Amino acid sequence: MLDVPANPPLNQAGAILTVDLDAVGDNYRRLRERLDGVECGAVVKADGYGLGATEVATALLREGCRRFFVAHAAEGIALRRAIGVLPEIYVLNGVHPGAEDDCAAAGLVAVANSAQQLVAWQATARRLGRRLPVAVQVDSGMSRLGMAPGEVENLDRNAFDGLELKLAMSHLACAEEPANPANERQRLTFDDLRFRLPPAPASLNNSSGIFLGEAFRYDLARPGAALYGINPTPCSGNPMRQVLHLEARVIQTRTLPAGTGVGYGHAYRTVAPMRTATIALGYADGWPRHTAAAAFFETEKLPFVGRVSMDSIILDITALAAGRLRPGDLVEVIGDNQTVDEIAGLSGTIGYEILTSLGHRFHRRYVGG
Ligand SMILES: *Cc1c(COP(=O)(O)O)cnc(C)c1O
Repeated sequence: MLDVPANPPLNQAGAILTVDLDAVGDNYRRLRERLDGVECGAVVKADGYGLGATEVATALLREGCRRFFVAHAAEGIALRRAIGVLPEIYVLNGVHPGAEDDCAAAGLVAVANSAQQLVAWQATARRLGRRLPVAVQVDSGMSRLGMAPGEVENLDRNAFDGLELKLAMSHLACAEEPANPANERQRLTFDDLRFRLPPAPASLNNSSGIFLGEAFRYDLARPGAALYGINPTPCSGNPMRQVLHLEARVIQTRTLPAGTGVGYGHAYRTVAPMRTATIALGYADGWPRHTAAAAFFETEKLPFVGRVSMDSIILDITALAAGRLRPGDLVEVIGDNQTVDEIAGLSGTIGYEILTSLGHRFHRRYVGG
């Protein structure tokens, strides 16, 4: 593999990704306010939805967050090194066979999604001669991960010997649709299943679940997306603050006569003279190739023209006075003018995918926190 630095210096990178850690902290406080005293954890899987799990978790520790959730054992082990021994780190996908000792050594809480995972974790505790923390995920209706109702019922009476049950949890399939009756059905199933487990704190809510009301709150919320500025209530306005700003550098500007083909396939042809700028951002950076969005210079909207290339995009800058935008200048492609959710909407996807797809060629900068 080519040894390009993970965070290239500003003068060598084509684009700058700025993560506002004050906005992350602010979003955490806004969710906590909503939760009215119920504990709020944080989901930092996929390297904090692409924004940097270490930086995000460190900022949230300062806000008082003490429970973090990742997807994989490897993420949990790395996060443990980054944030010290005290906070709880849950591995949502559970511990794969063979990874138990590594997870126990890192002090991770295994989420048991099946009786089999629970048995393996219990065997590890027995072998190591100490109690290990565990969470149980039950499937209340999403059919993705978690113990099915029959499986919960058939758990061995001694299934939790040698283990400390930290959390009974489940995940909502339709939380961003408050009127969907599946939410209430899942809540009732969750109540039924969790009472078949030893007594433990309970957790059902992701970001959108926090906005479903009091009955869904239980003892702990597990937001991810909303912390990163994604709208948890897509049916109404976004109560969260934008966290991410992406700016790309202008490589060159040109003046094209009418009738000029622009970019691959000449997918665009000018109908009148046009001034263009080519910027250093492309689909290799995670920008969706079929998304015809715009860039912003100050408040001027500069539409993309032609196809998105691997490393560049062409903008129509005719609206700007000649010479106002120069090589080296930065234009904004994600930020307050054009949010992650808006780009997702134009791309036929969700903000989660936009964030986690953003690449590693950017210069990354953290502000606040
Ligand atoms: C990803 C995930 C979350 C966080 O969901 P958001 O919609 O990002 O808030 C919570 N719980 C589980 C089990 C998850 O997999």
